[in-house]
Amino acid sequence: MRFVILGGPGAGKGTQAGLLCKKLQIPLISTGEILRKGIRSQSTIGQQAQSYVEKGELVPDLIMIEFIRERLLQGDVGKGWLLEGYPRTAFQAEELDFLLDELKQQLDWAIWLKVSESSLIERSLNRGRMDDRIDIIQRRIDLFYERTIPIVEYYEYRQRLLTINGDLSPEEVEQEILIATNLLKSSS
Ligand code: AMP
Repeated sequence: MRFVILGGPGAGKGTQAGLLCKKLQIPLISTGEILRKGIRSQSTIGQQAQSYVEKGELVPDLIMIEFIRERLLQGDVGKGWLLEGYPRTAFQAEELDFLLDELKQQLDWAIWLKVSESSLIERSLNRGRMDDRIDIIQRRIDLFYERTIPIVEYYEYRQRLLTINGDLSPEEVEQEILIATNLLKSSS
């Protein structure tokens, strides 16, 4: 199966993405994780992304689109994948659809972890990552509403959207996702 998981910073995307990938045995492609790792090792993508990630800005679309294109052409993603933190803009979402058409693949679900703004701030502050300073968090949240919320509508229109209450506990959120995607029967 193929999923994207959407949500603001601190919405629980990483946790839920990890659980779902483990359950379905599909690769997790987390752009935030890949970029942070790339910055630590100073890889090409890391160097390109560093100044943006450190300020809480979005890495330019063309860099991200090319990166995902290469990633989805690799051999381990034939049976499915989960994209976490991508797409983040309407342009990325449209380009992802073009790429999937070209690969003759279909997205099963866009899972939106809907969380109140106050919870996003609180959870991000408690996480203490390199881009989790209050001013940077606020910028990332603003960008989420400005650039990523329109994608929620994009997937809703295409009848691919599952809206999940992300304010629940991680276990409850996981359960809600499994019910909504019809995967509960095979859960252990
Ligand atoms: P995340 O861990 O998903 O919150 O991502 C951390 C940071 O990586 C973001 O604040 C952006 O700077 C960058 N980033 C991750 N994914 C994307 C994307 N799809 N488009 C642009 N920038 C991204």
